[in-house]
Amino acid sequence: MKVTVIGYYGGYPANGIGTSSYLIESNGYHLLMDCGSGALLSLEKVLDPLQLDAVILSHYHHDHVADVGVLQYYWQLHEERPNQQTLPIYGSTADPLMFGSLTWPHASIGKGYAPADILHLGPLTISFLPMKHPVPAFGMRIVETGTDETLVFTADTAYIQELVPFADRADLLMTDTNFYNDKTGTKWHMTAGESGQLANDAHVGQLMLTHLPQTGDLSTLKQEAQTAAGSVHVELAALRKTFAVKL
Ligand SMILES: [Zn+2]
Ligand SMILES: [Zn+2]
Repeated sequence: MKVTVIGYYGGYPANGIGTSSYLIESNGYHLLMDCGSGALLSLEKVLDPLQLDAVILSHYHHDHVADVGVLQYYWQLHEERPNQQTLPIYGSTADPLMFGSLTWPHASIGKGYAPADILHLGPLTISFLPMKHPVPAFGMRIVETGTDETLVFTADTAYIQELVPFADRADLLMTDTNFYNDKTGTKWHMTAGESGQLANDAHVGQLMLTHLPQTGDLSTLKQEAQTAAGSVHVELAALRKTFAVKL
């Protein structure tokens, strides 16, 4: 299993780089996890969007779903679809209006998930953890059939203790690291130190810092995370960089 970063900023695109979106590939299966601003333009550089098998959304904040509409138009406007007629888009049913928008005639069909569900998408088994965020948001634990390679994505969240067992021994942990350690006040995202500590506590194989801030020096962010992560290998998300889930 491998994951390619399609966009990695939190909040808004900048510097020619979009917001949260990741392409997960396993045995020819293509899953797009989140579809933020700029996702379609970036995805087109690595994969024909018609080759997607499914999309899954962590929550309905715009920086995670902004390009769903244009992805639906892409499918609608291409009559020839090599794999399937309709693109399944998985999202929480907690927001009925947003969930309803996932279905678009001749393009996509919304598929609801609830926190306790276990999804089987192609070779991937996906379970969820509700996060601490202003709207319902769900972390995902994605296990590849046959190899048991495991990817855990925190979605957007403040640090919560439940993340430690949820991320336990994941080969790759992807954390919402929107803040440097000196962040004060209300936090709806994790700091670099919290991401690193989580990776250490959960004994993961490697840590990818993502949902990154547009400000400051990202090498400082990485250093703050690495200090807390101990021996866990830490990487910054990078545009269209592909990570093997298992090192
Ligand atoms: Zn976000
Ligand atoms: Zn959010």
